Amino acid sequence: MKVEILEATPNPEETVCKAARNDYSDTYIGDKPFEKVMGEIEGNTIQDKKETLIHHLLEHGHFGPAEHISCTFAVKGVSRSLMAQLTRHRHATFDIQSMRYVSFDDEIPEVGEAVVEIPGLKEVNPTGRNVNWDEEYKQTTPEEKILSDREKVYQESIEESFNSYKELLDMGVPPEDARMVLPIGTKVNIVFTVNARMLMHIADMRAAADSQWEIREMTEEVLELAEDWCPTIFGYYNEEMKNRKNRLAP
Ligand SMILES: Cc1cc2nc3c(=O)[nH]c(=O)nc-3n(C[C@H](O)[C@H](O)[C@H](O)COP(=O)(O)OP(=O)(O)OC[C@H]3O[C@@H](n4cnc5c(N)ncnc54)[C@H](O)[C@@H]3O)c2cc1C
Repeated sequence: MKVEILEATPNPEETVCKAARNDYSDTYIGDKPFEKVMGEIEGNTIQDKKETLIHHLLEHGHFGPAEHISCTFAVKGVSRSLMAQLTRHRHATFDIQSMRYVSFDDEIPEVGEAVVEIPGLKEVNPTGRNVNWDEEYKQTTPEEKILSDREKVYQESIEESFNSYKELLDMGVPPEDARMVLPIGTKVNIVFTVNARMLMHIADMRAAADSQWEIREMTEEVLELAEDWCPTIFGYYNEEMKNRKNRLAP
């Protein structure tokens, strides 16, 4: 997968600080230079003051000001399974590559290019929920054969799906109908926009240890990019808040 930032609020941490200070300012915040806005905050430099205020907000669960800043991410080559999980987050805005307008009719992609690679093919005991082996198969089959058996089943199933898809297109079936035979591992590109508060909430749930590996991997990349964009907020989140107990509310 590839994850990158398309656009993001400029001067994000200044905006968060101004919004937070507005609540306690007896004069209009829009007329004050940033140094004045931060005048009463502890710290020798403006960066120290930003850290004092932002850390205070995050420590005390005052997440509202983080809603004023947002970031647009482009994600390439993730599964439609990841897409289904990510789009459950209702405060993010999404654009999803369409299977009605984009069909694979000119060229059927090679297996492996069209669907995501899965750890269940590469590791005999991958981490994942609800593993349910056939005990006899597990006890009697060498590890190498287990991996090659899995690879074979996956490849054959993908090939069959894509060939059926192509056949249906050749028979005049519209892409929006033919896509029904494509696997959930089929790759998709996503653009999503999210504010910093909601990004922390998504990370609480999706960077967690019990989260599914692919969305966890994407969330880790998103968090790294978020830290480049907002070093104070996401630096603090990554150090102090990540891997908290799953929170059902932000
Ligand atoms: C490990 C894991 C396993 C999961 N398994 C399943 C599963 O098996 N089946 C399944 O269906 N889902 C599953 N989910 C999805 C999960 O239940 C949530 O739907 C999803 O994570 C969205 O998070 P959220 O509920 O916090 O809502 P978000 O849309 O991210 O909203 C953020 C917050 O805003 C508030 N909010 C948003 N909308 C409303 C509203 N309409 N009313 C009141 N408050 C609102 C809530 O406080 C909410 O926490 C799973 C998630 C994880 C992380």
